[in-house]
Amino acid sequence: MAYGERGRRPPVVDLADRRALEAYRPADPEVVAQARRLKEAALLDFGLTESAVASWLYAKCHHQIPTTAIDTAAVVASGDGSCLLLYNPGFFTGLGLEGVKFVLFHEARHLVHRHLFADPELRDDPVFELAAEVSINHVALVRLGRTELPLLDGRPTGIDPRKVYEHYRADLTAHGLEPVAYETFTETDMRVYGELKRVHRPPVPEHRLCVRLQAGLVPADQETVDAVTSSALLNSLLAARRGHAGAERELLDLMGRTEDGNARAARIWGNLGAGLLRGETARTRTVDWWQRWLVDVLGSKLRDGERLVYPKKRGALLAALGQDPMLARRGPVRDKVLVIAYDTSGSMPQHVITWLTELVGRIDGVEAHWLSFDALVMPFRPGERVYGGGGTSFQAVADYVEGRTEVNGRRFDVSPDAVVMLTDGYAPPITPAEPEKWIWLITEGGSEWPETHTPAMDCHRVTTGSR
Ligand SMILES: [Zn+2]
Repeated sequence: MAYGERGRRPPVVDLADRRALEAYRPADPEVVAQARRLKEAALLDFGLTESAVASWLYAKCHHQIPTTAIDTAAVVASGDGSCLLLYNPGFFTGLGLEGVKFVLFHEARHLVHRHLFADPELRDDPVFELAAEVSINHVALVRLGRTELPLLDGRPTGIDPRKVYEHYRADLTAHGLEPVAYETFTETDMRVYGELKRVHRPPVPEHRLCVRLQAGLVPADQETVDAVTSSALLNSLLAARRGHAGAERELLDLMGRTEDGNARAARIWGNLGAGLLRGETARTRTVDWWQRWLVDVLGSKLRDGERLVYPKKRGALLAALGQDPMLARRGPVRDKVLVIAYDTSGSMPQHVITWLTELVGRIDGVEAHWLSFDALVMPFRPGERVYGGGGTSFQAVADYVEGRTEVNGRRFDVSPDAVVMLTDGYAPPITPAEPEKWIWLITEGGSEWPETHTPAMDCHRVTTGSR
């Protein structure tokens, strides 16, 4: 991303340290406020029309920090499973809305690219770096409907794919080789790379044009990038399946650009079940979308509090021995508390409960509390017989989980990290004290009110297989 013509310099503070970032030479409050408005407007446009993927990706950056500690903007994958969006307020106000959108789209695409192309040999090749810039900016120009790169101080900034193509064409022609047309050149990410490899002396991108071109400057551990990006892709895919035409077109285009000549990307798309968008049915497995969605949502709700650290001494020792450095998890982190409440007035399929039981059994460090409910709450253990059949009350679950009522003379005295409700949704809506912790799984034919409730809650329709 980091579009910018300013000098490059090593980071002045730890780019994963939120407090240090906020404290470092704060910009003028008015500039900060204006930059924040530009960023919000850009993300709103992404969500509505221009890029479902970028919109979801930034939705996963829970902290978005204006800071002068970097010159431009970047997403930092800080090693604890979360991502930070950092942006220089003066840079954003200098770019204006159109420029901010271009830069944010560019940066989001870098993360997607890193997720889909993780081959270390490719990544170490400067020609591949340049090819990534060309691909990303080509797509940004097309998707955002631009004819020119963003202007900063009246000058276009960034790597212009058409200029790189001109260099390529002139070089090949001078050496008696046949260049392909621009449309072919930019067709897929590997094609750009392959064609640039034919250049006698491939151009090396100027590092100041994108922070991603400065190795090691922006923390981005692969594990976090993979988790955040695959979650954004999954949510975009679910949006496409629910009829978001823009998300569908973007994903089809992204698949077409990345799977050709890249086994890893092809595998990732296959595992996501994205072929469905092309009308291909998965031959080898049944795709239970709600299960993927729930694993994704639970993953983000339960991950908080973990932190990956790089053990410097051990890392140096391992590196000296020629081994890959490793990240270690730093504790202690308390067990996460999960409540799973099962509506026994409805018709929840037994296999859903079985699957949930197995899923929870496989998550380390989770303390699960199982409840069945109709108008009353009845705790149970997996495998025990479940009772019910009366009217339905979600409020009864909220009252119990929030510690206001007793069941069998006992009060629920822990604070859950997530509450999963399995129900057909037919009962008076409620507003829990912490709605962000509630996850509603609605059976087929049920009511999805939590999705349109104020505040909206995580909600997904449970189906019995691929449709
Ligand atoms: Zn870049």
